[in-house]
Amino acid sequence: MIVVMRPGAEKEEIDAVCSLIRSEGLEAFVSEGQERVIIGVVGVDVERVSHIGTMPGVEQAIRVTSPHKLASLEHQRDRTRITLGGTPIGAGSPLVVVAGPCSVESREQLFDTARLVSREGAQMLRGGAFKPRTSPYAFQGLGESALQILSEAREETGMPIVSEMTDPGQMELFDRYVDMIQIGSRNMHNFVLLRVAGQGRKPVLLKRGFGATIDEWLMAAEYVLSAGNSNVILCERGIRTFEPATRNTLDLSAVPVLREMTHLPIMVDPSHGTGRRSLVGPMALAAAAVGADGLLIEVHPDPPHARSDGDQSLSFPEFGALMDELRRLEYLRRTDGRELMAADIPSDVGSIRERIDEIDDRLLGLVEERGRLALAVQEAKGMNVHGHDVERERELIDRARARGKGAMDADELEIVLSAVVRASRSMQRRHAAERSK
Ligand code: PEP
Ligand code: MN
Repeated sequence: MIVVMRPGAEKEEIDAVCSLIRSEGLEAFVSEGQERVIIGVVGVDVERVSHIGTMPGVEQAIRVTSPHKLASLEHQRDRTRITLGGTPIGAGSPLVVVAGPCSVESREQLFDTARLVSREGAQMLRGGAFKPRTSPYAFQGLGESALQILSEAREETGMPIVSEMTDPGQMELFDRYVDMIQIGSRNMHNFVLLRVAGQGRKPVLLKRGFGATIDEWLMAAEYVLSAGNSNVILCERGIRTFEPATRNTLDLSAVPVLREMTHLPIMVDPSHGTGRRSLVGPMALAAAAVGADGLLIEVHPDPPHARSDGDQSLSFPEFGALMDELRRLEYLRRTDGRELMAADIPSDVGSIRERIDEIDDRLLGLVEERGRLALAVQEAKGMNVHGHDVERERELIDRARARGKGAMDADELEIVLSAVVRASRSMQRRHAAERSK
């Protein structure tokens, strides 16, 4: 059941509702939205307290039809945003890339990979320490020493670290070392593990079980949420189907389906989702296109010799090319000139010029779009007016000047924007003159 409080309900009224829920042996989850407070009621036979609907400050008590109460949009309309190391994930934040090796194999391997993915613009580092391998004879991971290496790489690069927890007994270790706990596909139904992760405060990256429906996956999230941890990110990583051409079938429709059901952030793992290096890039772009909040990508310095998942791990140049492509298509936000310097500049003049031509094309396209909008303003103001507004132009130029901290300084940016504004004014005048003929 969901209790919707009236806008501006008093704290005492909210407390009274929570006390009544708890006195009946049920749990109350308070979620403070922008306008009003909503209280989720969870437990057995919640109908017992439906008279809450008549309490002071309560607008209504609604029976929830969705079985995943806390994860549902009915419970929380504001989308969840989880911030790790200063990087927000979800609720419309720019795409986040979490990259690193399937398993931590050595200090050198992990540090080389961490430095590279950081330089290329990934915001977080992944690396398996306890590997849930299908075969008991396969490499099982370096355990705690891998977590130690990961945390040293965090020290150096500043990237938060993500690693998979496979046993409830590891909780203390993970609390100490990692920034986000991954629950793997094979453990999505491990309810003891989910509960333990839910009792902590570290964000949980919950992979979809390879045989799980979206409903079952959300119910697994519900285990973590109902244990008290509201920081859950869902990660689609492919499901098992009759199709053997790929390791799994990456269900990208899960992203928009989940968007309609839950407020939780959604990531996509095209590495496990395809199992093949050549398919990782295209499916990563597709995941970004359907609106994933983040990507989980396996990267290795020498994929053919990786101790796990070499076939699906990107080499350093392949990862760089994918990041370039994500940036070119503007799925990855360029934050400043520094990021471009680090990640984006090809080494030969021919390729640099190609990139400049591409940018000029995009710039001219944007200037044309800006022109049409300026004409629309003129139209809205009335045919005989030129449409431009000197005060507003000054504001635009001041705003451009304030950004002059990179390769171009404030004066140079003013030159650029003044030229755009001057051209726009000339265009408006010309159109007004043509219309009045
Ligand atoms: C992993 O990310 O390393 C992993 C084992 O993934 P999954 O649980 O999706 O197979
Ligand atoms: Mn892997």
